[in-house]
Amino acid sequence: EQVIRKIAAGEVIQRPSSALKELIENSLDAGSTYIKIHLKKEGMNMLRVIDNGCGIQFQDLPRLCERFTTSKLSKYSDLKKITTFGFRGEALSSISYVSHITVITQTRGSQIGYKAEYKNGELVQSRSQDKKTNQDDQIKIIPVASIPGTQIDIENLFYNQPSRLRSFQKNNQETQKILHIVRCYSINNPQVNFIVTQEEKKLPLFICKYSFNANSLERIQEIYSIFVQKSFLNLQINTIIDQSFLLQLEGCVSNLNYFNKVKDSEKNIKKSNFILFINQRLVENKKIKIQINKIYKEILKTKDHPFIFLNLILPPECVDVNIHPSKKQVQFLQEDLILATIMNNLKTLLMNHLC
Ligand code: ADP
Ligand code: MG
Repeated sequence: EQVIRKIAAGEVIQRPSSALKELIENSLDAGSTYIKIHLKKEGMNMLRVIDNGCGIQFQDLPRLCERFTTSKLSKYSDLKKITTFGFRGEALSSISYVSHITVITQTRGSQIGYKAEYKNGELVQSRSQDKKTNQDDQIKIIPVASIPGTQIDIENLFYNQPSRLRSFQKNNQETQKILHIVRCYSINNPQVNFIVTQEEKKLPLFICKYSFNANSLERIQEIYSIFVQKSFLNLQINTIIDQSFLLQLEGCVSNLNYFNKVKDSEKNIKKSNFILFINQRLVENKKIKIQINKIYKEILKTKDHPFIFLNLILPPECVDVNIHPSKKQVQFLQEDLILATIMNNLKTLLMNHLC
């Protein structure tokens, strides 16, 4: 069973950036307005996420990394917070099978924090405790002085998967992947502060500060230092599909000016030019990407890739619940109708802009 879990976990958590994505989503679900990420060796030695969210209840700590442990099902009716991707309570559990997890957490209004460590789905004795083993879970959890919020450390990722460990030791692209994820989440969550630091570097790798009334477009400007005012259009859709469900979409899409400006500027724009969130989760969908590129080619007569940021909200039942968290490609029901609606709105927006 342990071996099977270890292999399955390695499929859910394929690389440091996929572990980080799960941690950021948890911090956002906890209502955080501040998320700090700290890396040691591209996240392989340590990936630390500190947030100022609601914290984890003491009574939830013993089973935190057990499979299917989630505190979120009771909020199932809360559309904004829902992850529709089935597989609840799988992330921390999976991470614990391929790393060593340390959690320090304090709930809001509480005077004291707690520290707990996990391996292979289970609460383990803290490395700071003396060796006299204590079987009592309550005693494995150590009271500590802390502040409200949660800090989760993932150490020695893939220590028990030698071949994967080797492949990441050779590769040094992971920090870029991590930064890409943070950029995307900070664009989709403009009210949240994000900061990324690295042990080996004095200056932060990334900072996005909160500003009053900040929106996604301002974040795009801040992150890519492109002047967005005349280079982007706002795409907004609020419509009932098939007389049965609500499709909501907010997005920023580049216009013709954008292509002229971006030609010789930063190259990381090119890599991050298609950002899609469905129900607050960063996902990929090849069909949408292809159709959008086609529309740009048709209407703006350009072969360059546009910059697209879309935040799509659909009823949970529309998003395929059988999709596994490791599969970033997401499918949804009524896909043709949903895509047609988005593409028609985009076409109209671009045409009006040209006139
Ligand atoms: P899920 O997010 O699907 O519930 P996870 O394995 O990602 O499952 O997390 C398990 C549980 O741990 C969550 O339901 C939540 O109660 C708690 N949790 C994890 N991270 C945080 C955090 N940063 N702040 C508050 N609670 C958290
Ligand atoms: Mg989660």
